[in-house]
Amino acid sequence: MERIGKFLQARKDSNLLRKLNPYSKSENGYIYINNKKYADFSSNDYLGLATHPKIIQASSYAAQNIGTGARASRLLSGSLELHHKLEEKAAEFKQKPAALIFNSGYQANVGIISAIFNKEDVIFADKLCHASIIDGIKLSGSKLFRYRHNDSEHLEILLKKERAKYKEALIITESVFSMDGDIAPLTDIAFLKNKYNAFFIVDEAHATGIYGKNGSGIIEEQKLIDQVDIIIGTFGKALGSFGGYAACSKDIRDFLINSARSFIYSTALPPSTISANIASLDIIKTEPKLRQTLLENVSFFRSLLKNIPYETIGITQIVPIIIGQNKKTINLSSHLQDQGYWALPIRPPTVPENKARLRFSITTCHTKETLKKLTEVLYV
Ligand SMILES: *Cc1c(COP(=O)(O)O)cnc(C)c1O
Repeated sequence: MERIGKFLQARKDSNLLRKLNPYSKSENGYIYINNKKYADFSSNDYLGLATHPKIIQASSYAAQNIGTGARASRLLSGSLELHHKLEEKAAEFKQKPAALIFNSGYQANVGIISAIFNKEDVIFADKLCHASIIDGIKLSGSKLFRYRHNDSEHLEILLKKERAKYKEALIITESVFSMDGDIAPLTDIAFLKNKYNAFFIVDEAHATGIYGKNGSGIIEEQKLIDQVDIIIGTFGKALGSFGGYAACSKDIRDFLINSARSFIYSTALPPSTISANIASLDIIKTEPKLRQTLLENVSFFRSLLKNIPYETIGITQIVPIIIGQNKKTINLSSHLQDQGYWALPIRPPTVPENKARLRFSITTCHTKETLKKLTEVLYV
């Protein structure tokens, strides 16, 4: 088809063609690609849990004793006792009455938003919300307004003007943003949720396991658990495994079981994955040192970056440095690769034009020495 060839050529011409880079294994903050070892700054495995021996053991044990697949969707015969045990643990972790597992964070957002909201409703979403949130909104048919990133004043202007024209309203944001590494003004947004009678969903994909006293996220840290109607999370990032979930009231859980199509029409996650998720929630509880070390690494790296000739943004473990042009960003990324550092360029349309960046994901596994050497390599 002509469209496909044209698309690929256009992407190539503007240095925007994305490709896959297979790796053979990961270990202690390193990955192996084509037999070369790189310090990995591109993973979401912030605590190194994807290779934690206890989680691997729990996962293999479940595969050996129960099997490789759940054999059906949850509503048929795919609802293992393990799924329910994980849901109880996830609810407790998020301090909500109930939780429901989805097959990924992507499927959680798409399924939940489109199940609850429809074309009589209005949705206010942060300009930088994740693609899965946007896709869920599109599928819902609701009217969408995107407020300027982390700008609660702009959100209020939109609410004041538009809220009353629609039946139900949803305000949705992430807590830690994946491309800017910053944190949403959740207290201000919660105030507006009440003032304008809106439903409030917060996606804690990049915050879970890291922030808050119990590692449950920013909502816990800012004491807003009761203000948020649904907290979305994923087991695929700091929890080192796979799968998504919603933490919510019991009624919302029952509603979703009966109406979220991405929940209903997909085979349930396999026993090995569910067991790994249970083990990783246990480790978040018993090994707080992992997240403390991560946060120390973050402040160490961010303080080193004060001297480099590029702008650094955000305040979290996601550390973007803005390079600007696509070509320049790609060149710097290949320079880092030559030196043994894996940090990929993030380009439009993922980020705005002329805001191409290198994004460093800091993890517990990085040593101070690696972080220091990386900053030195950035001076070119
Ligand atoms: C990664 C991410 C998701 C998707 O989660 P998966 O479990 O990887 O599908 C959803 N929302 C946000 C904000 C994310 O960063």
